[in-house]
Amino acid sequence: MAGLQALVARGDQIRALGTRHSFNELADGPGDLVSLAGLPPAMDVDSTAGTVRVAAGVRYAELARHLDEKGFALPNLGSLPHISVAGACATATHGSGVGNGCLSTAVSRLELVTADGDLVTVGRDAAHFPGMVVGLGALGIVVSLTLDLVPSFDMRQRVYEGLPLDVLDDHFEELVTAAYSVCLFTDWRSPALTQVWIIERADEPESLVVKEPWFTASPATRPLHPVSGFSAASCTEQLGVTGRWYERLPHFRPDFEPSSAGDELHSEYMVARRDAVPALRALDAIRTSISPVSQICEVRTVAADDLWMSPFYQEDSVSIHFTWIADTEAVLPVVALVEERLAPFRARPHWAKIFTTPPSLLRSRYERASDFHDLVRVWDPAGKFGNSFLDRYLS
Ligand SMILES: Cc1cc2nc3c(=O)[nH]c(=O)nc-3n(C[C@H](O)[C@H](O)[C@H](O)COP(=O)(O)OP(=O)(O)OC[C@H]3O[C@@H](n4cnc5c(N)ncnc54)[C@H](O)[C@@H]3O)c2cc1C
Repeated sequence: MAGLQALVARGDQIRALGTRHSFNELADGPGDLVSLAGLPPAMDVDSTAGTVRVAAGVRYAELARHLDEKGFALPNLGSLPHISVAGACATATHGSGVGNGCLSTAVSRLELVTADGDLVTVGRDAAHFPGMVVGLGALGIVVSLTLDLVPSFDMRQRVYEGLPLDVLDDHFEELVTAAYSVCLFTDWRSPALTQVWIIERADEPESLVVKEPWFTASPATRPLHPVSGFSAASCTEQLGVTGRWYERLPHFRPDFEPSSAGDELHSEYMVARRDAVPALRALDAIRTSISPVSQICEVRTVAADDLWMSPFYQEDSVSIHFTWIADTEAVLPVVALVEERLAPFRARPHWAKIFTTPPSLLRSRYERASDFHDLVRVWDPAGKFGNSFLDRYLS
């Protein structure tokens, strides 16, 4: 730790790196890039408080197993367990579920190396704490995070195929509130959800939705990958088999290559949950432009939070994610078109994925952006942790 503190103190430009799963220049820097993967992978569970203090570079896959052994769980996980806890929380990484906030909402304390090399701890009792959690790497090098835990639980997930998009007009809320975590997929090749993933806690009653007359999707009879034609071997177990929370909440298994479908680009937009259906309708109107460059689109829900730079700030949201083919030239015009169609819904892009939203428009969609800018100036007056991405979008 002393070595890291000295490095930060004497450096001019330095940024923390997580597991490098971001798709834009957020994680780049003009100077040194520091990975914390080599620091001891501490995971100290406080069973009385129901918290864990975890080293920044630990990946969710390792953390989840450790927590489960101690009888604890995290309320939610992203689709991929290979990402670092600090990197995920710095960008408001999320899973799905109307009652589940993004992963950053579990953070109750941060320990970070600040611009002058000091090791500082900030907790929820600090007024500016909500500005620090989704910190985009701009406030310092986070070395540990304390996360709130819940008792460990079992889950089962079932996949259903082929739900017409029309059904969402009247039943979107029923569908997304049907289970702890519901994920909707479409390839935009037809006006239908190609797959609906219903991920339930084993201690909750089975979803009634699957018995409703309007729920015309058919239960999958074999495990499926969200992208048609890809092997489901990389996916977490389906077909209603009960397993631990960390074996069901992510879509992908920790022992497989950390990519959903080989080379790809990602974009994702968050809109208010009440706007989900019109936003999906707006995208359906351009599906012939989307489908040639998209591998899959996933729709999830995320609960509102109070974290200043979270795209879910004070808004129960729906996230609309695109896995694109790995052809930036072909994809960018479609990204711009998607943004144009989602503009009436004030769509906020995922910080770590590809977007073309102009900086002034992006800032206007974050009511605490100027507070965050002021906070960064206090913690890092010389811009030691800055980069061109932050300059462009936040100053
Ligand atoms: C296949 C795939 C699936 C994904 N699935 C999801 C998903 O389900 N939901 C979702 O929301 N996102 C998803 N993402 C996006 C991913 O969660 C984010 O890109 C996340 O930030 C990656 O974390 P990382 O550790 O790789 O961080 P990096 O990409 O290495 O860094 C991201 C940011 O975090 C900062 N950072 C990292 N470590 C620290 C630290 N110690 N201190 C301070 N700042 C730090 C960096 O400076 C940078 O600004 C996915 C990405 C991929 C490739």
